[in-house]
Amino acid sequence: MNTKEYVEKVYEQVLQRNPGEVEFHQAVKEVIHSLIPVFEKHPEYVQQGILERIVEPDRQFIFRVPWVDDNGNVRVNRGFRVQFNNAIGPYKGGLRFHPTVNLSIIKFLGFEQILKNSLTGLPIGGGKGGSDFDPKGKSDAEIMRFCQSFMSELYKYIGQDIDVPAGDIGVGGREIGYLYGYYKKLRSSYEAGVLTGKGLTYGGSLARKEATGYGLVYFVDEMLKGKGIKLEGKTVVVSGSGNVAIYAIEKVQELGGKVVACSDSNGYIYDKDGIKLETVKRIKEVERKRIKEYVSKHENAEYHEGCRGVWTIPCDVALPCATQNEISKEEAEVLVKNGVKAVGEGANMPSTLEAVDIFLNNKVLFAPAKAANAGGVAVSALEMSQNSIRYSWSFEEVDNKLKDIMKNIYQNSVRCAKAYGYEDNYVIGANIAGFLKVADAMYSQGII
Ligand code: GLU
Repeated sequence: MNTKEYVEKVYEQVLQRNPGEVEFHQAVKEVIHSLIPVFEKHPEYVQQGILERIVEPDRQFIFRVPWVDDNGNVRVNRGFRVQFNNAIGPYKGGLRFHPTVNLSIIKFLGFEQILKNSLTGLPIGGGKGGSDFDPKGKSDAEIMRFCQSFMSELYKYIGQDIDVPAGDIGVGGREIGYLYGYYKKLRSSYEAGVLTGKGLTYGGSLARKEATGYGLVYFVDEMLKGKGIKLEGKTVVVSGSGNVAIYAIEKVQELGGKVVACSDSNGYIYDKDGIKLETVKRIKEVERKRIKEYVSKHENAEYHEGCRGVWTIPCDVALPCATQNEISKEEAEVLVKNGVKAVGEGANMPSTLEAVDIFLNNKVLFAPAKAANAGGVAVSALEMSQNSIRYSWSFEEVDNKLKDIMKNIYQNSVRCAKAYGYEDNYVIGANIAGFLKVADAMYSQGII
């Protein structure tokens, strides 16, 4: 059997063993095909079953999360935590609270997280969790009761040296606060490093909130510079208006780019004069309202129903920061037709496999999620470091480390792409760079 047939065989096993888990299949498919040249060079990885082992999580927890709403009704949600791989460090990855959450989504995110975390160069393994709970429209008291119920089960499986959750869609500072408070109560011990994304008064890191968005723009800026292009003066479209989108917009604006649109799951706003970020922050971070509120404050801006329409706006740089599969073949074709030069993925797997092919075939510079959005988890690992030494670094110190990390990820991705004969393909470069470190660690540690 040649290497290609071997990889196909493993992929077939993944399909059979995980029926119906389409997002997980998609994430695995993209990665393992790009690893064919690695197995050609390293037959010992084939012999040690590295691929068969890396696509099978170490363990998966699914649990009931009962809670009582403000009207006294009992509600039941489902909780998940998938501990995927701890070859290079404790399991690490966020929690997502969103009605679409299911095992397939948590597994795709957990699998991506293994390679993303490896790319940061920091000692963190891969995991992910969450619930199909919908935080939209819930009161603070309901969010708190839900988080406490969720943690009353999750606490059994996590710990600062075991598994360290953080935020993701629907889980921000407020939720991490409730989760951390309840973990502390259950354990009767102050174990700050068990969760990241904490508030600044109880062990959080400066620049964690900004890290994913800033890191994305640092990566895209490096990628553009690598081709002699400046971000300054470029027109940028961002999707989403959550934590990743907001701080991506902030950094683009700081570097002189012009962001003309952003969105939420209902629709998008277009402001040809440039998005006023203070307004977006107030609507999303303080008022917790929908993005359409923006047009009542800025008369020149337009609101359109339907979030996918955001990709019809002509731009030089597209930053998908909303959710998985938000750019399919059709949206990618429109972006290319409108002359997009670069795409940087702030969300996890926002482009379908067909969309990625369209970008690559049309020579669009493409920054894949696991490289470009690794800044968030990288600063989470820096938060763990600060908790371990019971100290906190200044904003500038953390931000400078983040910049270096993103530059390194870019350079490693470029180097691996070139070394394996796929120059300028950062998808393959990032997959290989992330995989090599994990594979080496797994190889050294024996069959476990
Ligand atoms: N949810 C983020 C991600 O997708 C951050 C995870 C973390 O900080 O652990 O990488």
